[in-house]
Amino acid sequence: MLKNNKTKYDAIIIGAGISGLVCGCYLARSGMKVLIIEQHDKPGGYCTSFKRKGFTFDAAAHCFGGYRKDGITRKVFDNLEIDKKIKIKQYNPSNIIITPDSKVSIWADLNETIENFQTIFPEESDNIKGFFNCLINADHSFFSQLRSWTFKNLLDNFFHNDKLKAILSAPLLGFLGLPPSLMSAFVGARLFTEYILDGGYHPEGGMQALPDALTKIFKEFGGELRLSCLVKKIKIKNDKIAGVFLDDSDLISSKYIISNCDARQTFFKLVGKERLKEKFYHKIKTMTPSMSNFILYLGLDGYFESLPEHGTTYCFLKDYNLYKSYQTIQKGDFENFEGHMLRVLRDTSTLLSIIPAPHKNKRFWDNNKHKITESLVDKIETYTIPNLSKHIIYKDAATPHTLNRYTLNYKGASYGWAGIPSQLAVPDMRKPSFVEGLYLTGHWTTLGVGISGVVYVAHDTAKMILRKERGKFTESL
Ligand SMILES: Cc1cc2nc3c(=O)[nH]c(=O)nc-3n(C[C@H](O)[C@H](O)[C@H](O)COP(=O)(O)OP(=O)(O)OC[C@H]3O[C@@H](n4cnc5c(N)ncnc54)[C@H](O)[C@@H]3O)c2cc1C
Repeated sequence: MLKNNKTKYDAIIIGAGISGLVCGCYLARSGMKVLIIEQHDKPGGYCTSFKRKGFTFDAAAHCFGGYRKDGITRKVFDNLEIDKKIKIKQYNPSNIIITPDSKVSIWADLNETIENFQTIFPEESDNIKGFFNCLINADHSFFSQLRSWTFKNLLDNFFHNDKLKAILSAPLLGFLGLPPSLMSAFVGARLFTEYILDGGYHPEGGMQALPDALTKIFKEFGGELRLSCLVKKIKIKNDKIAGVFLDDSDLISSKYIISNCDARQTFFKLVGKERLKEKFYHKIKTMTPSMSNFILYLGLDGYFESLPEHGTTYCFLKDYNLYKSYQTIQKGDFENFEGHMLRVLRDTSTLLSIIPAPHKNKRFWDNNKHKITESLVDKIETYTIPNLSKHIIYKDAATPHTLNRYTLNYKGASYGWAGIPSQLAVPDMRKPSFVEGLYLTGHWTTLGVGISGVVYVAHDTAKMILRKERGKFTESL
């Protein structure tokens, strides 16, 4: 607990999501006096776990990527010595993509993955090799060339076979809720490299172990974390950050504010619409958030024969027409959407299944949650795990409304702003030019997707602040 709300901090971070925590660790390690304020009663944001009836479930994010040697998550986590706090393992294969007439595994060994695709699509053999090698070896200039492209443009550049293109896009529709014709090529390529080709990493004990370990590291560096506290307002004086206000409290002053919470809340509520230039206000107003998710949590009675591979994420899609599937989801027509992602952990006897879901009001979910839950169980039983329903001893689900309630992410958006070409690296979304000392970090900055993306943004945000303070704090990045 804070001893005194009047204490002056060097930096206050609003939100203890993975990005807020990583940024906090770097700033605190450099000697800054840092406070993280989190409205939930535990750290992690979308990366948390919870217990029900003896089962431990990952609440939303269920694994992460970019942890290969030299991967961005690995560099940051090694640098913070997270391996002293938790054990991280990789499930192999990390993903299996199932369609009515094929089953493709994504292995930790890239060559094995390439061979798997080549066996199914021999006529595209060279293109498959070219595509994966291009993704793996891509540098900044390749990614910047992709800025205005869609993922479909990228796939069309390599392949002829439409089924192959749909298979490569299926997990991206599953995660981001976007078809290849709308998704930015940059976002799709990044997600593919950082999360699918180098994915499937999971901390022992569940995803909560990750923010818990980062919290310990942050505190060891002298940082303070205040849970169950909502930041109500950011105080700005003469266009400079002055501090934050909580419920009924005095000003907690700070030189820097780093907001890890959603961008609409940050700008419209915490900063205040009146401070925004007309053009920027209009830009945010018209930006599209990413799709949310419906998440099914099942506690099972133990091992049974049809259970899939331990830890692997299965992505099932019946229809190769991804745009049609996307339209079905957009309408909230769950009955006719024939797709799901799922992951079974045999050691905890839990199943997590995720489908993209649009934001709807609470009444919609109150009326439909049960029906959607039952229909999803039926579909999993039909297409991926026969006899599943006989083994369920605990069943619950989270809706976009639940995601919004726990994290305050606008419309329960799962990945910040939608990953479309017009919403990449939007100016002022990470370091607004009109307030000195204000930064954003995390998946609303339009700079990073998923856990590896927000870890990258966090590291970069801390670097920007420490560079500005050059000489005053130890720059230890
Ligand atoms: C269902 C689902 C599955 C996903 N699966 C994966 C996956 O498997 N792998 C992967 O890499 N990514 C996955 N993602 C995406 C990933 O979880 C997120 O992109 C990432 O965790 C975002 O981290 P963040 O730090 O930017 O923000 P968040 O996790 O959103 O954290 C923001 C924090 O700010 C707090 N906050 C908000 N407002 C305030 C306020 N006013 N005062 C104080 N605190 C506040 C919130 O409570 C929250 O803790 C998934 C997301 C969802 C929803």
